[in-house]
Amino acid sequence: MFQSLFHYAHVQVVVSSQASFLRFSHALRLQLALQCWRLPIQSHWHNNETWHTRCVNNMNPCDGYDATCVFCKIANKEKDAEILESDEELCCFPDLKPGAQHHYLVIPRMHLGNCLTLRKEHVPLVQRMMEMGKKVLQKSHVTDLTDIRLGFHVPPFSSVPHLHLHVLAPASQMDPRSLRMYGPQSVWFLPAEQLLKKLNSQKDSCPAEAKPSDS
Ligand SMILES: [Zn+2]
Ligand SMILES: [Zn+2]
Repeated sequence: MFQSLFHYAHVQVVVSSQASFLRFSHALRLQLALQCWRLPIQSHWHNNETWHTRCVNNMNPCDGYDATCVFCKIANKEKDAEILESDEELCCFPDLKPGAQHHYLVIPRMHLGNCLTLRKEHVPLVQRMMEMGKKVLQKSHVTDLTDIRLGFHVPPFSSVPHLHLHVLAPASQMDPRSLRMYGPQSVWFLPAEQLLKKLNSQKDSCPAEAKPSDS
């Protein structure tokens, strides 16, 4: 029941955010999206003491636990969810308000922030999340892996502040509401491949190790 309540609340937040967002003009929407993209990265670059060091250098799933985070509770088996696939690092469960015939979430077991807080060092993690998502789709008899959507919500439109990959299929059959939330025209949904490109284009240096003047 709590899970249903959570997902109801989760979706309500997304939908109401979406409704108010749609009232913005195109210019304001673009500006907001750019701000959302830039600010966390800037603050991350200039923050020498970040969660990054402990998250990247210490991938022990027991660390990075946030007692207030529902996805941490799911990963820690403190909250029920239908776990479709899991390993030491990741787990996958259905989105209870699916935006497509198949809609799953892949999360790291440890608490990581939204996709904009990731660094180049997280590329393998994102790739493994994508692999698990595709594996679950295949287990669910999805054969056309070219007709899928893999991506992340861009804050402030990510309702759960625990990194989670949305895995949707078939992408070609998403309804208008789903397209607004997860489709190519959504400015607050970042396809996983685009995130990988962005992370790969970053400098090798870790911001926690780099001097602020380097940025
Ligand atoms: Zn969490
Ligand atoms: Zn989400």
